[in-house]
Amino acid sequence: MFDLEKIRQDFPVLGERVYGRKLAYLDNAATTQKPLAVIDKEREIYEKCNSNIHRGVHKLSNLCTEMYESARERVRSFVKAKSASEIIFTSGTTASVNLVAYSFSEKYLKPGDEILVSESEHHSNLVPWQQICFRKGAKIRMLPFDEEGCLRIDLLDELLNERTKLLAVAQVSNVLGTVNPLDTIVKIAHRHGVPVFVDGAQGVQHADIDLVASDFDFYAFSGHKIYGPTGIGVLYGKERLLEELPPWQYGGDMVSSVSFAETRFAELPLKFEAGTANYVGATALGEALDYLDKLGRDKIHAREMELNDYAFTALSKVPGIRIFGTAKDKTGIASFLLDGVHPADAGEILDKMGIAVRVGQLCAEPVMRHYGINGLVRASWVFYNTYSEIDALIEGLDKVRKMVLD
Ligand code: PMP
Repeated sequence: MFDLEKIRQDFPVLGERVYGRKLAYLDNAATTQKPLAVIDKEREIYEKCNSNIHRGVHKLSNLCTEMYESARERVRSFVKAKSASEIIFTSGTTASVNLVAYSFSEKYLKPGDEILVSESEHHSNLVPWQQICFRKGAKIRMLPFDEEGCLRIDLLDELLNERTKLLAVAQVSNVLGTVNPLDTIVKIAHRHGVPVFVDGAQGVQHADIDLVASDFDFYAFSGHKIYGPTGIGVLYGKERLLEELPPWQYGGDMVSSVSFAETRFAELPLKFEAGTANYVGATALGEALDYLDKLGRDKIHAREMELNDYAFTALSKVPGIRIFGTAKDKTGIASFLLDGVHPADAGEILDKMGIAVRVGQLCAEPVMRHYGINGLVRASWVFYNTYSEIDALIEGLDKVRKMVLD
């Protein structure tokens, strides 16, 4: 069964107090807390075997290389990719998007081509595509969302055409919490011969992923949002596509032979991993994935759905609240405004009560523009959060209203 008390003890930060009050950490969409298994693994590596990978002949180097490559296999099995060659370690989702944006545009993007990006993307899955379009004389187009925060997939057939080279879309919006219907989106895009880049930063930690069945062409996520360390992330690409793409960054570890006349690049996946890799982060990320599998991903999902019901029911009763993103299929993300209250004021008052939420434009200015607003308050919860933390948020909002409006 789901022993919450015990689970929370695995995450030391959750027991902290801020301003003398119990912490209610409701900023999980920004980053998740780490279980001891992850923290201990990093410490163990630095204490027992730290050594640079892939090039050493000595015992410790070989140990770290083995750990790094088993982490790659661990990620492969977690996302059910066909081959470990399709798993590239990066520093995070942003780096993964940039890698594909630059490499893909070098190979395929010509003046007049188009890239289609959804309106609800995080800047990380928008700006890189926009900038390469500017560089190449291509055009970035927008797939809009409706008032509930659902993508207008009814417009996809119209927006995709023979000039479209790629579609970039998130699995889950970091503002609206909408779980996008990727099955349908991918099918339509592929019918037009357009590859799909999926930003899984807000999705991978909530749902089982099967990259073979889902047929995404590229998929990216960050370790720190799935209970792993910061500074490590993943880029998945179909092997055939990755083989065709040129390297993005050059340097050690991504070459097979170098002379002043020419350089031959290493095979996948190392072709895309220039320089010393984050072998510690990758290994600790593997621990995070093991942790989730041990808890049981279906149990995690069920627990998060229960919290969703509880939280959205409670939030909807807060006087003067407007919730942005009311799709049926949502993760634990509630972005909202309180009538007459500036989000920054709400954030500050909640903080003093020990409640950690995010406020501002949430790295998604086009979403703010869509609604004609300057910012939002975002509370985001995951399986380790409690009903009492949600209650604390509701009480906190009551206090915010009283302090600002009375
Ligand atoms: N995409 C989405 C949907 C996100 O929520 C985030 C992080 N807020 C990113 C991309 C960027 O992730 P990172 O900063 O870890 O690269």
